[in-house]
Amino acid sequence: MISSRVCTFFILLTLSTPIAVAHAQDAATASHVRGTDEASTMLIRDLAARSATGRDLVDQLDRSDLVVYVRRRLFATAMLTGRIGFVRGDCRRRYVAVEIAAPRNYVEELASLGHELQHAVEIAGEPDVCDASALAELYTRIGDPVERWGGMADSFETRTAFETGIRVRRELLQTAAEN
Ligand SMILES: [Zn+2]
Repeated sequence: MISSRVCTFFILLTLSTPIAVAHAQDAATASHVRGTDEASTMLIRDLAARSATGRDLVDQLDRSDLVVYVRRRLFATAMLTGRIGFVRGDCRRRYVAVEIAAPRNYVEELASLGHELQHAVEIAGEPDVCDASALAELYTRIGDPVERWGGMADSFETRTAFETGIRVRRELLQTAAEN
């Protein structure tokens, strides 16, 4: 069910993100899904505008306690299309960072964002999960290890996120065809 070509790895690390920059944008947006720069903010906006699934994911996160920072970045490996992790282990306020491999085909970047936001929804639904080790425990329970598909150690995938990415890509291509 999982192809290593398209799947996104789930890295169980505490990611660092320019949180000071992101905080500066807090006042500007009430949304819980926030870009850390202009291009990432645009990516979120375009996903919500062009994909019903993307819009629904952002809505679900807006109604949750989880705050998601999104950053486009260059990864050293082409195997990685995106990842998600806790920015810091603070259970009073849960912040996760999503990193999307860029630059790539824009539809692929948007589909990866949809895929990662599905993981954010999975985490949002588990209020006790607020640090990397609780995250590891959660994905050991709900995910499939991707190591056996040639992925990295401590990486997991869920069928729901995998299918969400595919659905978002289909919606984006449909929207493009209609315009
Ligand atoms: Zn994934």
